[in-house]
Amino acid sequence: MLYFTVGPSQLFDGVENFITDALKEEIPSLSHRGEKFKYIFSETSLNLKKLLNIPENYSIVFVSSATEAMERIIQSVVEKESFHFLSGSFSKKFIDISKDYQKQTNAVELDYEQIIDLTNYEISETAEVICLTHNETSNGCMLDVKHIEEIKKNYPEKLIAVDIVSSVPFVNLDYRYIDIAFFSVQKGFGLPAGLGVMIISPQAFERARELKEKGVCIGSFHNIYELCLNAQKLQTTETPNVLNIYLLNKILEKMLRIGIDKIRQDTDKKAELFYDFFDNSKYKPNISVRENRSKTVIVVNTDGDTKKIMAKLKNNGIIVGEGYGQNKDTQIRIANFPVHKIRDVKDLIQCFNP
Ligand SMILES: *Cc1c(COP(=O)(O)O)cnc(C)c1O
Repeated sequence: MLYFTVGPSQLFDGVENFITDALKEEIPSLSHRGEKFKYIFSETSLNLKKLLNIPENYSIVFVSSATEAMERIIQSVVEKESFHFLSGSFSKKFIDISKDYQKQTNAVELDYEQIIDLTNYEISETAEVICLTHNETSNGCMLDVKHIEEIKKNYPEKLIAVDIVSSVPFVNLDYRYIDIAFFSVQKGFGLPAGLGVMIISPQAFERARELKEKGVCIGSFHNIYELCLNAQKLQTTETPNVLNIYLLNKILEKMLRIGIDKIRQDTDKKAELFYDFFDNSKYKPNISVRENRSKTVIVVNTDGDTKKIMAKLKNNGIIVGEGYGQNKDTQIRIANFPVHKIRDVKDLIQCFNP
């Protein structure tokens, strides 16, 4: 089967062999305090920075999932107030975590039926962190990275936290204007689930340190301050998912060989194939405003034919995702990740022809 699902998704090319290699190298039995683990940690961190062009002085830390990363951000760098751009269900999850922690929250609800300009909104004076979901996996709305960078330029003392779960490695951020970005590995990197990655700026680290020194509870074993301190020593607080870190490094090496420009160009090309087709098909893209359309998660309205479409695709060896939440039966979601080849996209589209 070929998985066009939005996460977990198709495993990236070579994962099966990398798992075999890992077993041969006895990776699952390695001590996470040993030299080999430090080497794997260091290589993974360096390769991620190289692939995504992340400044050298940023920290790369590992948690269990993207959802955990959201909670760690709220705990570690928000004393009183967070600000949220809401573009769908995942950004709602983010703000709900802040509410659970009894922080004050302010939010702007974005309407993807209009051209979105994030720089048009006034952000409350007292907000400490501005939270955004670059790509909403629930509805297929993608934000403009230039706007995200612009916000940081307008509010340099505030931290910017961006969910890049379903757009990495496609998303081309200038990390100088991002304080925290996070993702899990079962989407664009095509790995088994169970590993979250956070990219943390010196400013965010400082903020966590200040709050800790002030006596604020910034979380226990996985707070941003100690995650970063440990990362400097190529260490983790707990026994981490060493196998998945090892695999991530293998995928990063592979993507570096392919080249990030090629990965991004191919993603653009495949997205164009999808939208060109669905714009002229009986089933239309969920988002009509081109500027808001995701390149990595294509959401299509099905007039209630979701089950029928999924069954037909399955007969052809292709699995796509159903709609999110209440759109379960009225939409499908198709991933456009680096693992998906142009010919696979053409095969998928072919299945829609009578
Ligand atoms: C999948 C997803 C998450 C949650 O990831 P987990 O690994 O399940 O915690 C968060 N945000 C977005 C945009 C996602 O697509």
